Amino acid sequence: MSDCIFCKIVAGQIPSDKVYEDDEVLVFHDIHPFARVHFLIIPKMHIATLSDCTSDQQGLLGKMLLLAPRLAKEAGLDTGFKTLINTGRGGGQEVFHVHIHVFGGGDPVRRS
Ligand code: AMP
Ligand code: ZN
Repeated sequence: MSDCIFCKIVAGQIPSDKVYEDDEVLVFHDIHPFARVHFLIIPKMHIATLSDCTSDQQGLLGKMLLLAPRLAKEAGLDTGFKTLINTGRGGGQEVFHVHIHVFGGGDPVRRS
């Protein structure tokens, strides 16, 4: 996990555009947004994939999921949004630190 890019973001070693943070969870804008609004909800602890989660993470995963509608609304996605969890290589996962994509709002806006 020492070379995990999201652990480095949690540790402040790589900058991120933060949306929300508490003691267990960090939320930041995706660097390559799919849509006008696109952020990632991650646990601060390193868990590689959804398949690696156990019942020990039930509360944490519930907290992450419940943040999605709240933060989507705060980001102006009043009419709805999409969620995505890519799991494993076969699921298209590129960063092996579990995360929920939350996105919506039409055409992508690239940040410079
Ligand atoms: P996934 O395919 O579900 O593993 O998606 C990983 C996501 O992480 C992609 O949408 C990337 O654009 C995003 N990403 C990778 N590096 C960073 C970074 N440094 N800051 C923000 N988002 C990132
Ligand atoms: Zn990690």
